[in-house]
Amino acid sequence: MKVKLLKFTPEPEKICAIAARLCYSFASIDEISEKFTKEKIKELLDKVISSGHNSVLEHASFTFGVEGVSRSLLAQLTRHRIASFSVQSQRYVKFKNGVEFVVPETIKRDKNLLEKYNNFLKNTEKLYKEFLDADIPAEDARYILPNASATKIVITMNARELRHFFSLRSCNRAQWEIRDMACRMLSLVRREASLLFSDAGPDCVREGCHEVFTCGKPWKNGK
Ligand SMILES: Cc1cc2nc3c(=O)[nH]c(=O)nc-3n(C[C@H](O)[C@H](O)[C@H](O)COP(=O)(O)OP(=O)(O)OC[C@H]3O[C@@H](n4cnc5c(N)ncnc54)[C@H](O)[C@@H]3O)c2cc1C
Repeated sequence: MKVKLLKFTPEPEKICAIAARLCYSFASIDEISEKFTKEKIKELLDKVISSGHNSVLEHASFTFGVEGVSRSLLAQLTRHRIASFSVQSQRYVKFKNGVEFVVPETIKRDKNLLEKYNNFLKNTEKLYKEFLDADIPAEDARYILPNASATKIVITMNARELRHFFSLRSCNRAQWEIRDMACRMLSLVRREASLLFSDAGPDCVREGCHEVFTCGKPWKNGK
């Protein structure tokens, strides 16, 4: 899996802090924008995050490029309705040079099952190519492709949605693949906007675990 932070709102912490300050100030936007120090930004962001005034976090957006993740991950990811997605099309892209597949670690660990998995995928790929060669449109040939098929996605989320996404998907109890992606995304945005994301992660990092089947372990990003 490859996860890259492609672009983000310039000075993402400052723009959210300006929005927060504006709500409670007589000053003009010019005056508000000039007066900011890192300490003031931190104070304002800590206040809005702890009070739940989360809408100000919607002014900063982050765009990621993701490659080598499965369609299985995609199905979970696109349940997040406040995000924007562009996904490599299986209708318009013909995978004539081969289909890329994701292999879960649990299957990799079992030599016998791994061989069966790979054989299944090899046969699927062969049949897919046969369909294309017989002029079956790619949009129909793809019906036989499994959840393991790899895809490429561009994802944009604002900081509020990202924090929500991290609370659900970086959790130790989340499915391994989307968790891996979420943890990588969290590391990337923390580097660029630590004041927006230093306390981001599963609920146990902030207020305590809400999972019915709690893991009972302390959370560490990516571990
Ligand atoms: C551990 C886990 C297990 C899951 N298991 C299943 C499963 O078995 N079956 C299944 O179908 N799904 C399952 N899901 C998916 C889950 O139900 C959500 O669809 C997914 O996590 C997206 O969450 P969300 O709706 O909070 O996020 P988003 O769509 O990103 O929305 C963010 C927030 O915006 C608000 N919001 C968005 N849209 C609306 C709306 N229409 N009305 C009101 N408020 C809105 C809500 O506050 C929401 O939390 C699972 C998710 C997790 C994390």
